[in-house]
Amino acid sequence: MKVINPATAKVEKTYSNDNKSDVAEKIKAAHQEQQSWREESFLQRAESMMRAADILEERKEAFAELMTTEMGKLYRDAIAEAEKCAWVCRYYAEHAAGFLTDEVKGSDATRSYVSFEPLGVILAIMPWNFPFWQVFRCAAPAIMAGNTVLLKHASNVPGCAMAIESIFRDAGFPKGVFQTLLIDSDATADVIAAPEVKAVSLTGSEAAGRAVAGLAGKHLKKAVLELGGSDPYLILGDADLEQAAEVCAKGRLLNNGQSCIGAKRFIIVDRVYDDFVRLFKGEMEAAVMGDPMKDGVDLGPMARTDLRDDLHEQVTKSIRKGAKCILGGEIPDREGAYYPATILTEVAPGQPAYEEELFGPVASVIRVADEPEAVRVANDTPFGLGAAIFTRDTEAAERIARSIAAGSVFINTMVKSDPRLPFGGIKNSGYGRELSDYGIREFVNIKTIYVK
Ligand code: NAP
Repeated sequence: MKVINPATAKVEKTYSNDNKSDVAEKIKAAHQEQQSWREESFLQRAESMMRAADILEERKEAFAELMTTEMGKLYRDAIAEAEKCAWVCRYYAEHAAGFLTDEVKGSDATRSYVSFEPLGVILAIMPWNFPFWQVFRCAAPAIMAGNTVLLKHASNVPGCAMAIESIFRDAGFPKGVFQTLLIDSDATADVIAAPEVKAVSLTGSEAAGRAVAGLAGKHLKKAVLELGGSDPYLILGDADLEQAAEVCAKGRLLNNGQSCIGAKRFIIVDRVYDDFVRLFKGEMEAAVMGDPMKDGVDLGPMARTDLRDDLHEQVTKSIRKGAKCILGGEIPDREGAYYPATILTEVAPGQPAYEEELFGPVASVIRVADEPEAVRVANDTPFGLGAAIFTRDTEAAERIARSIAAGSVFINTMVKSDPRLPFGGIKNSGYGRELSDYGIREFVNIKTIYVK
């Protein structure tokens, strides 16, 4: 596996893949370890998880540099990512026991209750875009519940994958609790099929979701899928336009445009269309593109040049089909996987900018007559991850939120994940939930115990 720095196009490092027998050894170790890990108390598990949080904070500069080198996110965002990982570790260290305590249920039994027991070895297949956060979001609850985890990370971030393994090791977890498999996606089929592996959690594209869900189905393994999104941001007639424009630009450029819950489609009511687009363009134009390690930069490179080229193809195809480019839209003449902040207006059905996820700093702008049309267009997508509504009438926004087909709706702010709130999607954005009490209950056996 080659690490190519997307800011410079230079090969930074190469890693050798695990071979079949390495993988078999790791699966065996994960399974054996789980037999004793499941017997550890929540208190003991929490001690190591707290230590993992400390390590994330103590070494955040080194981890951030690694993330930025491997996938190009802004260094300051990478620091924040390491800190957020510490938060999710502490959150589950503190709350796992409460979330998984026995639940007494009334029935005709003398006593009936539910106990929450770990499933076993969980395979986590993770993407490069939040190379630490996605892993911890899955692993912290799974491990606190008494499972062990095997990580198959995206092929462009092997250094992050190894660093995460070292965090768990240095935090005092037994070796088999968390291990990284350095394998290609083709090699995951055998891991999903292994009898010791009881479930799989995938965060990634729709295509990977279909492949992994198919394999999980074939082998009757539980799966959680966190897939792509094309989040609509609805700007209603009474919105605070300056605030909305600022949030929308931030939401679109976050992580160099590569976030599943990035703001992607901007659906604007006719009455405020011109004013909003002017303000939004101003915000997008002001974003400084450059070296992601440097202060004062707002937009770094995309993670890989092939992904940048695919995005550009979506842009040019949309323009050929009637979209208008009012900002950006050209590949800059410089080394690296850079793509400028771009705005497409007159986005309509049949264009990639309307139908597909744009995983980069490109905004799709759609004009609608009124609120009912805004809702119809918001739902006119195969995805259903997040959505946002901008209006001064929060009561109306809460009503509209219920008619949006998505896993979350945020009002007057951008969609974000938070350990305390469930996260996930519907439709082609996947199924299952991560985070909060809902997330930790995905990878447990919800067992009924009945005493006559
Ligand atoms: P990706 O190409 O689907 O890769 C994600 C992971 O899946 C990688 O580890 C990849 O391994 C693996 N993979 C790909 N195809 C596979 C297959 N057929 N079988 C088994 N594993 C396979 O996605 P990405 O480009 O890294 O990430 C971008 C996508 O993820 C976007 O669509 C984004 O919206 C989505 N995403 C969703 C969430 C969410 O929470 N809903 C969060 C972040 C990202 P290789 O690298 O070895 O191919």
